[in-house]
Amino acid sequence: MVQATQVQLQVDVAPPPLRIAVIGAGAGGSSAAFWISKAKERQDMKVEVHIFDKNDYVGGKLGGSVFVRANKNMFRATEEFGLNVTDLSREDDDMTVWDGDQVILTVSDCQPEP
Ligand SMILES: Cc1cc2nc3c(=O)[nH]c(=O)nc-3n(C[C@H](O)[C@H](O)[C@H](O)COP(=O)(O)OP(=O)(O)OC[C@H]3O[C@@H](n4cnc5c(N)ncnc54)[C@H](O)[C@@H]3O)c2cc1C
Repeated sequence: MVQATQVQLQVDVAPPPLRIAVIGAGAGGSSAAFWISKAKERQDMKVEVHIFDKNDYVGGKLGGSVFVRANKNMFRATEEFGLNVTDLSREDDDMTVWDGDQVILTVSDCQPEP
């Protein structure tokens, strides 16, 4: 009669990285994914970030008509990405529409109707 001896093998296997799924690549989702990735670099975290969107572009319904200092995350992003910020405010209070490259509409003497 043969007696088999069981030997428990020990293999060092690195634990799988945490996987984070972000649903939606709008301002909220893409921002979350970006800052998690930054934290991953800075803290040497073992995480994978995957971002999913039903559309094939990033940005969601992001609009940008109000860009003020109070919007701290937006200004922080301009610094993080090294973007130039152009001050479009004027002393005469014209209203302007900026298409991302140039001013496409200027309406002078904008006053609320009485
Ligand atoms: C014309 C306009 C001007 C604006 N101007 C300003 C401004 O000047 N300043 C300001 O701070 N805010 C402004 N906003 C508001 C700002 O754009 C929104 O608050 C912001 O975009 C919301 O971001 P979000 O990521 O929450 O949502 P969304 O941008 O709506 O992103 C949601 C994402 O999720 C995806 N998604 C939805 N359902 C699913 C699904 N089932 N599976 C996978 N993906 C899915 C969508 O495709 C989208 O990409 C403006 C908005 C508009 C429309």
